[in-house]
Amino acid sequence: MWYVSTRGVAPRVNFEGALFSGYAPDGGLFMPEELPQLDRGTLCQWSTLSYPGLVKELCALFIGSELLPKDELNDLIDRAFSRFRHREVVHLSRLRNGLNVLELWHGVTYAFKDLSLSCTTQFLQYFLEKREKHVTVVVGTSGDTGSAAIESVQGAKNMDIIVLLPKGHCTKIQELQMTTVLKQNVHVFGVEGNSDELDEPIKTVFADVAFVKKHNLMSLNSINWSRVLVQMAHHFFAYFQCTPSLDTHPLPLVEVVVPTGAAGNLAAGYIAQKIGLPIRLVVAVNRNDIIHRTVQQGDFSLSEAVKSTLASAMDIQVPYNMERVFWLLSGSDSQVTRALMEQFERTQSVNLPKELHSKLSEAVTSVSVSDEAITQTMGRCWDENQYLLCPHSAVAVNYHYQQIDRQQPSTPRCCLAPASAAKFPEAVLAAGLTPETPAEIVALEHKETRCTLMRRGDNWMLMLRDTIEDLSRQWRSHALNTSQ
Ligand SMILES: *Cc1c(COP(=O)(O)O)cnc(C)c1O
Repeated sequence: MWYVSTRGVAPRVNFEGALFSGYAPDGGLFMPEELPQLDRGTLCQWSTLSYPGLVKELCALFIGSELLPKDELNDLIDRAFSRFRHREVVHLSRLRNGLNVLELWHGVTYAFKDLSLSCTTQFLQYFLEKREKHVTVVVGTSGDTGSAAIESVQGAKNMDIIVLLPKGHCTKIQELQMTTVLKQNVHVFGVEGNSDELDEPIKTVFADVAFVKKHNLMSLNSINWSRVLVQMAHHFFAYFQCTPSLDTHPLPLVEVVVPTGAAGNLAAGYIAQKIGLPIRLVVAVNRNDIIHRTVQQGDFSLSEAVKSTLASAMDIQVPYNMERVFWLLSGSDSQVTRALMEQFERTQSVNLPKELHSKLSEAVTSVSVSDEAITQTMGRCWDENQYLLCPHSAVAVNYHYQQIDRQQPSTPRCCLAPASAAKFPEAVLAAGLTPETPAEIVALEHKETRCTLMRRGDNWMLMLRDTIEDLSRQWRSHALNTSQ
């Protein structure tokens, strides 16, 4: 399987190449050169698989056994999910009024990023050990990415991770999830600034191409192909759990409601649809509504500023993965995609060409949900089911309630739940409900923490560079010792 850039200029790479890249060298995102088509027989076979079983099949399809033999791939995926709290890894809760909530948050940090990051890190380790190489992962985070990345990388051979968090701007639980991991390969910095300010030193370091190459730096954000790949399994699992039958011709439709910020889950769902899964996609966003405006009016333009909402992990201004969606909508036309994205980068505003917009609005429906509607939805779900939703899940569930209140004759529907309510007690309180805190989260408060401050007036960029250079030096002397 080969991967090409959505902008069509960078040379094609295999899965390993895509895995170790963030953006393609031409600024685009990697996508499979050709999409396989799943026939009915394959879908029926897959319908009885567990969630990890589906991840295995999808990864085998998109990685290729010449690069990663199937039995080794299966071991890596089993290892990735070994620390999950639920034996099914992902669990569907069937609630009143046709509400299906797919709980993607049974990983260590209580959010869905654990799923794709734990697999991605296993893949990285596999290739690093084989090539006897080392990488340093650098992540700037205002929330869930940092903790999930730390959890997946902690203790990994051949990898170090540096995380910059905005001191005082994450929730308390998020911060503790990052600062209480004391493994030797985890390096956490608390920056006295907001998330835009902490991006600056990271951007500057990554702009130095020679330095990045010399020290094998990489990021682990949601544009990484491997994360999108694993996320496809959410949609397959949702479909097989919610479809009423697999005996009809054509197969029944299931609607999947995807709460999103950077459109990673949306891109995954759209690829799943393209390769033959009969799903209808609904994209649900908070008041940061660029994706909603794009679907409704073809208006792909940046808003003035990020709005803070209760669904804070979706407070994202630029939905990077829409580039993958545009590329697919245009029939893999890299010229169209490049023109579109370059205009967006120049002017921060694009009106989608008519044809592209009508294809997009055929492929997905959208909603934008206010904080008030989020808390109402959390309250209603509690009243009807005694079930607590996190504010991000509530964004998706709000769409479901809108539909049943209009008494639309509906297809079965599955709402993706990206995080546990336990992680967002502030939002639960805002909804007038009582937070439930699992023992693991309570225990965080009493654990030892480690975090180096980056104070105002310090040279953050230099501190970051020094740390990276130190880690490279340590790796080189370690590699030397083990080879002697
Ligand atoms: C990261 C995150 C999201 C947004 O994910 P995208 O990849 O931007 O769609 C939504 N909810 C939670 C809880 C998250 O951690």
